[in-house]
Amino acid sequence: MTVDRQTAAPEQADIVIVGGGMVGVTLGLCLAQQLPQRRVVLLEQATLPAVQPGQPLPYAATFDARNTALSRRTIQAFTDLGLWQRLQPHATPIRHIHVSDRGHFGFARLNAEDEQVESFGQVIENAWLGVVLLAALRDCPSVSVRDGVSVTGLTREPERITVRGRQGDAELVIQAPLLIAADGTGSPCRDWLGLGARRHDYTQTALVTTVATSLPHAQVAYERFSAQGPIALLPLPDLPGEPVQTRRSLVWALPPADAERMMALDDAAFLQALQTAFGGRAGRFRRVGRRQAWPLQLMVADQQVVPRAVVLGNAAHSLHPVAGQGFNLCLRDILVLVQELVAADAAGQDPGDLSLLRRYEQMRLEDQRQIIRFSDTLVRGFSTSNPLLAVLRNAGLVGFDLLPGAKPALARYAMGLSHV
Ligand SMILES: Cc1cc2nc3c(=O)[nH]c(=O)nc-3n(C[C@H](O)[C@H](O)[C@H](O)COP(=O)(O)OP(=O)(O)OC[C@H]3O[C@@H](n4cnc5c(N)ncnc54)[C@H](O)[C@@H]3O)c2cc1C
Repeated sequence: MTVDRQTAAPEQADIVIVGGGMVGVTLGLCLAQQLPQRRVVLLEQATLPAVQPGQPLPYAATFDARNTALSRRTIQAFTDLGLWQRLQPHATPIRHIHVSDRGHFGFARLNAEDEQVESFGQVIENAWLGVVLLAALRDCPSVSVRDGVSVTGLTREPERITVRGRQGDAELVIQAPLLIAADGTGSPCRDWLGLGARRHDYTQTALVTTVATSLPHAQVAYERFSAQGPIALLPLPDLPGEPVQTRRSLVWALPPADAERMMALDDAAFLQALQTAFGGRAGRFRRVGRRQAWPLQLMVADQQVVPRAVVLGNAAHSLHPVAGQGFNLCLRDILVLVQELVAADAAGQDPGDLSLLRRYEQMRLEDQRQIIRFSDTLVRGFSTSNPLLAVLRNAGLVGFDLLPGAKPALARYAMGLSHV
């Protein structure tokens, strides 16, 4: 294909990344560290926060108001990138996990000490994660970050892929042997590449906010299931002037109409409704921050690679956040993809070659399938009012608490160490 309406020659790169979310930015950092000789261009449609060299990083909401539970494997990856020291001041370890079922007898507890680990993972605010990753990426000479660029189309040829985009009134055309599409669940690139996807609408909306409780969180992560949907309460770092260990991240999955109603309540009525739904384990819910709503669906791309292109991150698989696995799974995909690209580079192989990309996909399918099945079963198994299923799942939770070997297996999933 030739590029019509284009007088200037298309820009050339080695790899083009579409999407500057957590996955695109982390991928850019890994490529810069391991393939610094390759020129990478990252295109993001939103305006990313400006970070001034030499200035302290702004600690304010940037990407979004969510928090992410980072598994131990993910923390190791950020340590290897030399970034964990910068991330840690705004992260809180999870040392205990408590799973329960509202209105039923079963519950399960996991302790990091019993599993002989220091913690199951750490909770970090996306705002801080985003700004640290982005600042580091902007310091990488081999990666050019272009924000405010909306990608509008792709054309694949045997030797290269052409990416077209718009930045204001200007048109931009870049060619590379490989495109990595990390453009989110609704991925336009996935469509342009002709890749289908299977979807399941959970008919749940995640209501996400920060709350303060009367009892300290004591580094416990709570997962409470109910027929309406799960409630996750994760420990957050302290804020100056606030009572210690009382900030928590709330992810409350609800039927969409209920979520809409909860979004519209005033703070006092919301806190009361939350108290009723969650019970008294965290003490009294005292304060609530800004509320955000995220519709929840399972989306899995039928195929993740074609000649010259890979879909990655939420563009490849988008999960219910119940088990805090989405980003952790994407991170493991990134590590294997980069490892394969490094090996191909050393062997002088074309990075967009289908056999290489297929090998990457094959290496990742088993871990992806297990995590997708795990989180999907959790949601479907618990989000039901069927009394027989309620008895079975409670027997499961009690058994799980008593059964030797069951807990370490789940703890390994929670830590993201199951199939690395
Ligand atoms: C409520 C909630 C809680 C979660 N908690 C956890 C957790 O605790 N642990 C965990 O591991 N995971 C968690 N996740 C999952 C995690 O947030 C996602 O896996 C992760 O954000 C995926 O990032 P991404 O970069 O693939 O996608 P996105 O964040 O969607 O980024 C895609 C980017 O592509 C850009 N883009 C789209 N189209 C174009 C275009 N045409 N041109 C240019 N740019 C484009 C978008 O602007 C966007 O910035 C949670 C998810 C939710 C919803």
